[in-house]
Amino acid sequence: MTIKNNIEDVLENIKKCANNSSRNPEDIGLIAVTKTIDVDIIKEAIGYGITDIGENKVQELIRKYEEIGPAVKWHLIGHLQRNKVKYIIDKVDFIHSLDSYRLGKEINKRAKQIERTIECLVQVNVSGEDTKFGVSVGELKELLNELSTLNNIKVVGLMTMAPHVEDKEETRKYFKALKDLSDEMAKLNFENVEMKYLSMGMSNDFEVAVEEGANLVRVGSKIFGKRDYSK
Ligand SMILES: *Cc1c(COP(=O)(O)O)cnc(C)c1O
Repeated sequence: MTIKNNIEDVLENIKKCANNSSRNPEDIGLIAVTKTIDVDIIKEAIGYGITDIGENKVQELIRKYEEIGPAVKWHLIGHLQRNKVKYIIDKVDFIHSLDSYRLGKEINKRAKQIERTIECLVQVNVSGEDTKFGVSVGELKELLNELSTLNNIKVVGLMTMAPHVEDKEETRKYFKALKDLSDEMAKLNFENVEMKYLSMGMSNDFEVAVEEGANLVRVGSKIFGKRDYSK
């Protein structure tokens, strides 16, 4: 019951923030981030209307995919090592963490082997923190140019993570920066690159992200409660 209420609350807030910024709430997708959450609970959330699942670890995604299957869309949102691409290529619908040409080539190669095209978002390290993955702002254009040559990848947008801060208003400038980058890159009209999605905003800051143009938000603890990493 609480999960149901949590989902309703998150959707209500998304709606409010979309309205604040004169956007259609239906254009904003909610990805339920299920890392550390048991399959039974995930199934419960799916019962309440969740259609998109985000996992940040390959192993965990595979294990849960085996039980839940393709009834939902699977988003890999965490850092992806090239040697693990082969395990998820037939399972994921979106990869949010593409951040190098080398990784792009590996995804492309594996996708080609199974005759698929994988939709990818390029992760950008907008804040420039060294603890964060993602291509730097300065290198984004060159990377998109390179990725545009890979036929079994379709770049469909950008993703970022804002720094973890007490005051969520402080995240606004990073989300605004990603939106501006997205508009700028769209104008360059790279072949095979579409700036359709902006994946930004988590439990702490999704409201701000929506106000700044996010159309995919990745929410975990606001839906499932505090994570227990001890399991
Ligand atoms: C864990 C995670 C989230 C969700 O985090 P919450 O704060 O629990 O909402 C979103 N995006 C990524 C990449 C994550 O790893």
